[in-house]
Amino acid sequence: MNHDIDIKEIRKNCFRQSKVKGEFMLQMRVPGGIVAAKHLSMVQHIAETWGNGTFHIGTRQTFSLPGIKYESIDAVNAYIKDYIREIEVDTCGVDMDVNDAGYPTIGARNIVACIGNSHCIKANIDTTALARKLESIIFPSHYHIKISIAGCPNDCAKAHFTDFGIIGVTKTEYDYDRCIGCGKCVEACAHHATRVLSMEQAKVVKDECCCVGCGECVLACPTGAWSRVPTKFYRVMIGGRTGKKSPRMGKMFLNFVTEDVIIGIMKNWEKFSAEVLEHKPVYLHGGHLIDRAGYHKFKEMILDGVTLNPEAMVAQRIFWAETEYRSNINVLPVATK
Ligand code: SF4
Ligand code: SF4
Ligand code: SF4
Repeated sequence: MNHDIDIKEIRKNCFRQSKVKGEFMLQMRVPGGIVAAKHLSMVQHIAETWGNGTFHIGTRQTFSLPGIKYESIDAVNAYIKDYIREIEVDTCGVDMDVNDAGYPTIGARNIVACIGNSHCIKANIDTTALARKLESIIFPSHYHIKISIAGCPNDCAKAHFTDFGIIGVTKTEYDYDRCIGCGKCVEACAHHATRVLSMEQAKVVKDECCCVGCGECVLACPTGAWSRVPTKFYRVMIGGRTGKKSPRMGKMFLNFVTEDVIIGIMKNWEKFSAEVLEHKPVYLHGGHLIDRAGYHKFKEMILDGVTLNPEAMVAQRIFWAETEYRSNINVLPVATK
């Protein structure tokens, strides 16, 4: 009997309604998508004790456990207390009470990240460390926000399709005297990136306008003539989303900003959301909120009190055409061909 189940209340604890009446799927947060392997035994225990014996590697990098009966939710919430404390409080530094009531909100979604500096040779940043820092800023909040972090412009984390997409970028330095003129960096840039390098008199020339800061030239250089500067830089894409309501790719908001800027704008997000939504945290993608406020108002509020580093670049205007579904006019029934 489901008529007395408060779906909205259960959802706040990160339990999602199932197609099977009376069953739910728990979504456990894994900020940055990386935790100690020991936690898999906890996932196994929940799945085999209260769930249907399986778990889904959630599309937002959660441990998603389906088949949990409504009657078992209290027991599951009590069981995950230690996991929540270890991950949220001890690892990420989230300021929250941990008790037998489970997760306090589903608003701010799990932060997605590629593996970044923990493994990937292409990475420009420590995605895991950043995800954990941002978790302590955005969680727990009833206001919806999705963040994805990619270690480089390859964007394996799909940062282009989320509310805030953060991408690690690098500024490179060229040591003229170490360059032997082999052309490997030129080939690498043309193959992987934006073809902004060329050879002139056996030395490399860069068209600075369109360098995406990926670092492929650094990886390709056999002599170390190209190197990354020590400072870590980030690009911020905003307003990307999937969903039924006009999916769209995010646009570049900031480029070559430092971590302090990222922290600063994320601290302003909840206030911005609350003002746009008149303090009612309803579910809406970040892009819809930016549309409601208008880009210039968004920019003013999200950068309030944030000191931009000297290298920072800020979009002067942003415009989305939102033509995706209009393109359906090109997709006609076979019979009309
Ligand atoms: S986005 Fe870049 S750093 Fe991250 S996994 Fe992909 S290639 Fe590696
Ligand atoms: S960092 Fe710039 S120059 Fe180097 S490969 Fe990437 S786009 Fe090309
Ligand atoms: S790969 Fe290195 S050595 Fe070769 S052309 Fe480029 S900068 Fe010079």
